[in-house]
Amino acid sequence: MVDRPDVAMVVTPHPDDAEIGCGGTVAKWIREGTRVVYVLCTNGDKGTGDRDMTSERLAALREEEQAQAAAALGVEDVVYLRHPDGGLEDSAEFREQLVRAIRAHTPDTVFCPDPLRQSFYLHRDHRICGQVTLDAVFPFARDHLHFPNHLRVDGLEPHKVGEILMWGTEAPDTFVDITDTIDLKIAALLKHATQVAGAGSDRDVEEFVKANASRIGQRAEMPYGEAFRAIQYRR
Ligand SMILES: [Zn+2]
Repeated sequence: MVDRPDVAMVVTPHPDDAEIGCGGTVAKWIREGTRVVYVLCTNGDKGTGDRDMTSERLAALREEEQAQAAAALGVEDVVYLRHPDGGLEDSAEFREQLVRAIRAHTPDTVFCPDPLRQSFYLHRDHRICGQVTLDAVFPFARDHLHFPNHLRVDGLEPHKVGEILMWGTEAPDTFVDITDTIDLKIAALLKHATQVAGAGSDRDVEEFVKANASRIGQRAEMPYGEAFRAIQYRR
């Protein structure tokens, strides 16, 4: 089991990844009093098979879809970093943006994709998002001499995150019962109209999400679950 944090941050590579990875847990914790902030790393401007769609239009649509999905879960704030889809790099620029968000919003728990999945393809944005989030949490956000202008210029104190929970993992060790909020997870996912259009009807999406959550839940004796690999930090 995992303790419900006062503040959680979800670092998501593309619009819709967060809902798939941890939407049920986020909805459950918000209902119980957690404040949740999203950091959306890319604008998702490549995610279409529609030959008439442009990247500019798609980015605008997906930002609106993400805002609606976050609102459906009760997420308080979405930070849009607006990197191009497929354009995340393990760079000082990206690391600084995540460290700034962590210091500004002071999460106890941070969600991100597991960057270490080996047996299945992993989108480079997911791999890099996960890896740079881990680096940003420790040691960069903790130590004031990393990006010292955060403190000197902007008054942002260094921050110690307590725990990272990684979704999409091959080695889950933490399970959250999302039976009471799976309907919210599905509703939020359906806000990503440009993405679920190719997945069939709303009913198909619902069945797919429930089948996945049921399969995960079986491992922890819960009807519907979400699974994570956890790393705890000394605070
Ligand atoms: Zn993605």
